[in-house]
Amino acid sequence: MENRTVHVGKVPIGGGHPIVVQTMCNTHTNDVEGTVAQCIRMAEAGAELIRITVPGLPEVEPLREIRDRLRAAGVDTPLVADIHFSAETAIAAAAVVEKVRINPGNFHKDHGKARTLFARFIAVCKEHGTAVRVGLNHGSLGEYITNLYGNTPLAMAKAAMEWLEMCIGNDFYDVVVSLKASNTPVMVEAYRRLSQMMQERGVVFPVHVGVTEAGNGDAGRIKSCVGISTLLSEGIGDTVRVSLTEDPVREIPVARYLSDRYGHRLYSSLTGLRIEGRSAVATYDAPSRERLLLDLSCDFGKRLLDRELDGVAFAGQYLDDDGSPVEIDKELSDYLSDELLQACRRRFYRPEYIACPGCGRTMYNLQEAFETVKARTSHLSNVVIAVMGCIVNGPGEMADADWGYVGEGNGKVSIYKGRTPVLRHVPEAEAPDRLLALIEAEGRR
Ligand code: SF4
Repeated sequence: MENRTVHVGKVPIGGGHPIVVQTMCNTHTNDVEGTVAQCIRMAEAGAELIRITVPGLPEVEPLREIRDRLRAAGVDTPLVADIHFSAETAIAAAAVVEKVRINPGNFHKDHGKARTLFARFIAVCKEHGTAVRVGLNHGSLGEYITNLYGNTPLAMAKAAMEWLEMCIGNDFYDVVVSLKASNTPVMVEAYRRLSQMMQERGVVFPVHVGVTEAGNGDAGRIKSCVGISTLLSEGIGDTVRVSLTEDPVREIPVARYLSDRYGHRLYSSLTGLRIEGRSAVATYDAPSRERLLLDLSCDFGKRLLDRELDGVAFAGQYLDDDGSPVEIDKELSDYLSDELLQACRRRFYRPEYIACPGCGRTMYNLQEAFETVKARTSHLSNVVIAVMGCIVNGPGEMADADWGYVGEGNGKVSIYKGRTPVLRHVPEAEAPDRLLALIEAEGRR
């Protein structure tokens, strides 16, 4: 069995090295100044790898400038170009940065042509010593694979294995692989299957783990930790990105926590545990509210996902920002328990929100739009609503959302029912109400 290590610039990923913390810019890549400033903040906050979107060939030059300015400023954090659809852009970016993330199935609608383009791309990466992430997401799998296996975790793992097999065939091993989904059970199953397939194949590529479009705030943190910790606790995962619809710098402490915890450099603040049947009562003495959320998500996420437990109540305390103890009372315990069960998709006590983190493709104020949509729809239940930053990738990445709210640019929004656009060019000010009216009309039907 070969457990491969990939060197991305100075950073080794896989092969038993510490779990690498990474994040992604949400600036426009043409805004070189803004992107450089954000990268510097990320590096200072502890990002070991920084991803930047490259929507097309025109953004390759700004990418080069960003790289040069960062290096001149003494920031040597390896950069990853994030590329969708365009093999030419991926090939050009491979000569500029240390790593390129692609979904090879999206290089071309025709599967044979996508394979030819991928072979060309990896030849260029080999020439430049550039690493690759084969990054497949639930919801953006090619037709070729969904026709064979449906839109399932098995399809995700099979699709990834096909591209990895091509890499092996071309003697190219600088490859990291990811299979993200917003739905935690889907994501966990996809990675478990992939891990098993790689082991059976005898070549284990490093794995990038993440819950995509996790949203923000408590829910985004809990959902990310549930999915990622389940895998890390099983030894699956060599680099982590926590995807939050917030300032990306705020993702880093959460990813660092996961890296430290599963690198055995940090322990839970759990001080007591009582299990009766399939329910548990857990007592914490947490150094902060955020730590409490992260600890309990990692302590119980896997057991709830795998249905070893049906519920958990919480007691104890955490310290607030002033260092004063705050009791975990019944109200907080119920809230945490509901959020945890929702993150595991065991219960839907409020709408399930999917929101992309935003990137250089984002066409509107995503964080504001997400908050507005949440405020208008929070009274609903049993519905999955996606708020996405761009019309190019957003609809494809919404996976199993019932409704989609997608920024078009120029102050306009498109509303989707499943994968079908039902309203286009809706002014942003009206869009949350139009979405709510559609959902309510559907409910009445
Ligand atoms: S869906 Fe969001 S994160 Fe993905 S490319 Fe579009 S704006 Fe960027």
